[in-house]
Amino acid sequence: MFLDFDGTLAEIAARPDLVVIDKRLPEALRALRDALDGAVAIISGRPRAELDAMLAPLVLPIAGLHGLERRRADGSMVSHNGLIREIEQVRRSLTKAVAGLAGLQLEDKGLSLALHYRGAPERHDECRAIMDKALDEHRDCLDLLNGKMVFEIRPKGIDKGHAIEAFLDEPPFSGRIPVFVGDDITDEDGFAVVNRLGGITVHVGATAATGASWRVSSVDRLLAWLQESASHIAADTGAPVEKRDNA
Ligand SMILES: [Mg+2]
Repeated sequence: MFLDFDGTLAEIAARPDLVVIDKRLPEALRALRDALDGAVAIISGRPRAELDAMLAPLVLPIAGLHGLERRRADGSMVSHNGLIREIEQVRRSLTKAVAGLAGLQLEDKGLSLALHYRGAPERHDECRAIMDKALDEHRDCLDLLNGKMVFEIRPKGIDKGHAIEAFLDEPPFSGRIPVFVGDDITDEDGFAVVNRLGGITVHVGATAATGASWRVSSVDRLLAWLQESASHIAADTGAPVEKRDNA
C-alpha cells in the first residue's frame, strides 16, 4: 500500500506547514501496517523529516522528495544527493527572484526547491517564468514539475513511479500487488507504474484527468476506507481460499 500524503491522507492547507492531521490518521496507518505485515509506505514530495514529525510516533517506510530520500522498511536510508552544487545555484537565483513578491513562498527542501503560489494564484505565469529562468543552465540534470499551486525544481529521473518500483524490489513489498493512492499531477508517474504492474490505482478528489482506475471523493472518505480495509484484512486471517490439490 503506497500512499501520497498532502491531498490524500491530509487536507491541503494554505501553506504546507499549516496542514492539520486528522486524529484518525495515525491509528488508521498503524492498523493498516499491522494488517499488511508492514507493507505500507508514504510516497510524498515533502522531506522525509517533515513526514516523520507529522506521523510520530509512527515510523513507516517513506519516499520523501518524490523519492530523492527513501527509508526502506528495515530502516536503512537511500538518498540521491549528487546534484547539490546545481541545486545551490538554483536556490540563489530563486531567492533573489522572489524577494519582495507578495503571496509567494519558496520552500527549500534541501535536494529540491518548491515555489508555492497558493497565496497569489494570479502569479502563475510569473512563477513559471521565474522557475524556467532559474532552471535554464541545468536542464540536462534538473526538471521542472507543476503541482497544485506549486512549481518544483528537482533532479531528473526521480519520481514517485521510480520510488514505488524501488520499494517493490524489497521486502515486505516484493511479490505483492501494489496499491497506490494519490491526488496530484506528480502522482501520475506512480499510477502509471502501478497500472503496468497490474496493481490498483486510486485518485482522491474531484474528477480530474488521471491515469488512476479508481477514485474516492475526499480525504475524509479515504481515511474511512483505510480504517475499514485494515479491520477487514486483520479479521481475515483464516485463508478462506486454498489451492486445490488436483487443480
Ligand atoms: Mg498530494
